[in-house]
Amino acid sequence: MAIERTFSILKPDATRRNLTGAVNAKIEQAGLRIVAQKRVHMTRGQAETFYSVHSARPFFGELVESMISGPVVVQVLEGENAIKTYRDVMGATNPANADAGTIRKEFAVSVGENTVHGSDAPETAAIEIAQWFAGNEIVG
Ligand code: GDP
Repeated sequence: MAIERTFSILKPDATRRNLTGAVNAKIEQAGLRIVAQKRVHMTRGQAETFYSVHSARPFFGELVESMISGPVVVQVLEGENAIKTYRDVMGATNPANADAGTIRKEFAVSVGENTVHGSDAPETAAIEIAQWFAGNEIVG
């Protein structure tokens, strides 16, 4: 199986509750390697651009407000089948539907404050990684 990279965000609900280390432990236990990581406070424009695919959805405003409500930790994760592996350990979007042991089941507050983002496909992973990291900031 190919080594892949995916893009991850620990959302403001995670940093607010001091869960960076706890979420990172889940990531590493899943066999993923954190090959880039930094803490940033997104601007409104950055959040709107990042989630532009959802701009017509009724929850878009709430989503953007939530993403800029505090600092986030942006990451690049590397490993075998990293995109699916991370989606699996994240759990369902709505924590009420997430499987036991997943990040969202253990830590998410609600569908709006669901602790983590992970890319959903190789194309989006490449775009999202390039939005937040220069090549020399990723050390595998
Ligand atoms: P993901 O790939 O599992 O993060 O889910 P989506 O790409 O479908 O949605 C992006 C993000 O929008 C989710 O992680 C949620 O934070 C948020 N979101 C999705 N659906 C809802 C909703 O019904 N209400 C609210 N407030 N936020 C939502």
